Amino acid sequence: MPMLLDARTLYLEMFATCVVLGVAELVFYLRRPQSHGVGWWALANLGAALGTLLIGLRGYVPAIWSIAVGNAVAVAAVAAAWFGMLAYDRRRLPRWAAVLPVLALFAALAIPSPLSADLASRIVVVGLALAGFELLIAAAAVRIARRDGSIAAWICTVLMVLCALVNLARVVVVLRYGAGDDYMGRNALHSLLLFVLIPAYAGWNMSLMMMSMERTQRSLARAARTDAMTGVLNREGFREQAEARVRDALQAGRPLVMALVDLDHFKLINDRGGHAAGDAALCRFAQIAAVQLRGRDLLGRYGGDEFAMLLEDIDAAQAERIAARLCQRFSEAMRGVVDGASPTLSIGVAVLEPDLTLDTLIGFADVALYRAKAGGRNGVALVRDLQALGATVPPESPAPRRDGEALLFD
Ligand code: GH3
Ligand code: MG
Repeated sequence: MPMLLDARTLYLEMFATCVVLGVAELVFYLRRPQSHGVGWWALANLGAALGTLLIGLRGYVPAIWSIAVGNAVAVAAVAAAWFGMLAYDRRRLPRWAAVLPVLALFAALAIPSPLSADLASRIVVVGLALAGFELLIAAAAVRIARRDGSIAAWICTVLMVLCALVNLARVVVVLRYGAGDDYMGRNALHSLLLFVLIPAYAGWNMSLMMMSMERTQRSLARAARTDAMTGVLNREGFREQAEARVRDALQAGRPLVMALVDLDHFKLINDRGGHAAGDAALCRFAQIAAVQLRGRDLLGRYGGDEFAMLLEDIDAAQAERIAARLCQRFSEAMRGVVDGASPTLSIGVAVLEPDLTLDTLIGFADVALYRAKAGGRNGVALVRDLQALGATVPPESPAPRRDGEALLFD
């Protein structure tokens, strides 16, 4: 089937596509400048628009503008898109790895030589440069896709590999059969190349925006599960992960320990040192606990001055030791920090047993916490034999304790 569109028309179509994509990404970037990579992608599209416009105006503008500037800007645009991938991934931008090849390409096309005078050689050089940067983009996208499990990054990979293959195929065909006579006219090879590249390029840009939105969604989901002040999980986040851990531990018969931590006389810290001192004490606890716990343990802020910890693969005695060490570290760290108050911790520990649920486990840890408080505070209490306790634990999750509210099972 004969190609209906000449190459110049397709170049101008590519120009229009890049302008639309570039402006859309520029608006996105100006509204959310913190979106890593989007600024580079906007720049890449606007650069690609300029490059393809200059190339498309071949014969209407001086050759140096169309050939040397146009192609160098087009390649620089793909390099900027690669920088966008690296910026998205918060990696260092190797400026010279982009600037040097682009300058070398410009020189090769601008300085009179057998290479710059030969259309086929120019196509080969530009095609290789484009494919090289496109493969670098694909490699960065694979890394992101693997790490984040991002579908959008896989789409980006596939489309960039497609663009690179199309450019490489053009190089191979030109090397084999030459560049043809009417390069800007109805040149089947050239038109086919642009015909594939335009939608691939548009789809690739959509995948970039999807990647950016995926990241925003992930950070919103993380924020919804995080306690903004201390940076640890909030109640919902802790419960969500703890539910899964309890289920897995029961299935696998692995030991699991729940510990509830409450700051002693916390109201006194607020009264003596002000609310800021209270906040600082909560943050200090979260820091100390994060250091003491292992990577796979869970830590969450369960209420005002109450935290929950889920410790995996340890027995009751080990859990007691960890809790006692936490009490000691915290009281040491807070000594003399608030005038007239010596902040300490009380910790209640309960061990997971068959037939318990997350709520009953937390309920038993709360019984233990109450004992630690009743036993004089600044200490650890362990519920060893749940049956012997004779305590009834409500099937529902206990509501977060508010100021002045009685302790559970009080
Ligand atoms: P107890 O030893 O029995 O635990 O006594 P307490 O004074 O610590 O009593 P309780 O745990 O009931 O007090 C919790 C206090 O924590 C009451 C509330 O004003 C304060 N609080 C809750 N959330 C925050 C917070 O985000 N920042 C600060 N500074 N205080 C908070
Ligand atoms: Mg308290």
